[in-house]
Amino acid sequence: MAALACAALASGCAAPGAPAPAPGREPGRAGPAQALDPQARRAAEHARLVAAAQHWRLDRVPLTPPAPPAGKPEITPRDGFEVDGQEEENLPPVFTTVPTRKKVVFLTIDDGAEKDPAFLRMMSDLKIPYTAFLSNYLVKDDYGYFRRMQSEGHTLNNHTLTHPYLPGLSYEEQKDEICGMQTVMKKQFGKAPTVFRPPYGNYNGDTLRAAKVCGIKYAPIWDEEVFVDHWEYRDWDRSLHPGDIVLTHFRGRDDWDGTMVDDMRRFLNKVTREGYAVARLEDYL
Ligand SMILES: [Zn+2]
Repeated sequence: MAALACAALASGCAAPGAPAPAPGREPGRAGPAQALDPQARRAAEHARLVAAAQHWRLDRVPLTPPAPPAGKPEITPRDGFEVDGQEEENLPPVFTTVPTRKKVVFLTIDDGAEKDPAFLRMMSDLKIPYTAFLSNYLVKDDYGYFRRMQSEGHTLNNHTLTHPYLPGLSYEEQKDEICGMQTVMKKQFGKAPTVFRPPYGNYNGDTLRAAKVCGIKYAPIWDEEVFVDHWEYRDWDRSLHPGDIVLTHFRGRDDWDGTMVDDMRRFLNKVTREGYAVARLEDYL
């Protein structure tokens, strides 16, 4: 990794065997970043990223996503994922991929059980955007953890109060689950989201009708799911596509054989190797 990255930018690289500089500092630069011209600033930022990638033991430096699209793409339901009344009632679309030709994927992280401080540091060091879908019964013991996430520019979205199988509930019960979480989020995070993900990706017409009434505009699910030790694919071609939404979970050693940092390392190594950058989902909605 070091050799590859150093070919791109010689000045930011530690000698072989030397300890990686601490992420957050600019290796080899003495002055404040704002004193540098734009080109030097970009070089310094790249050097910082090289050091961060080494620190978190990535195979290579994650790619920088393109600027957000000037015009937002039109989001429609994935074929076969519509419900009766979808268009007539203007219900939130369920989709797994955002229409774009850019080589970007979107990282979404669900539930909220594991609250690993190292995960926050890693994503902040590497500047990787992500979207969290929170279920209240798992996050209510530590809203502060998710506020830190939010303060770093990540978006928090609705994943119900108690993570039920929604199609098994009545319309009113579904509405309580979704609107109830909107109320919690408004109180705890200052804002009721417009993005909602049904638990397990399961929904029916009542789910989308209730979601709409609760203020939801989008219901993204996912095209790939990454675990600490493998990937799962929705599509037969078992590969990433531009605009794919990738799911993972706030889980740690209690649930799987590794930490969130290990999980993110697997995710980032694969998307970078395949030429994808991680972009912010909300920039495209
Ligand atoms: Zn979930």
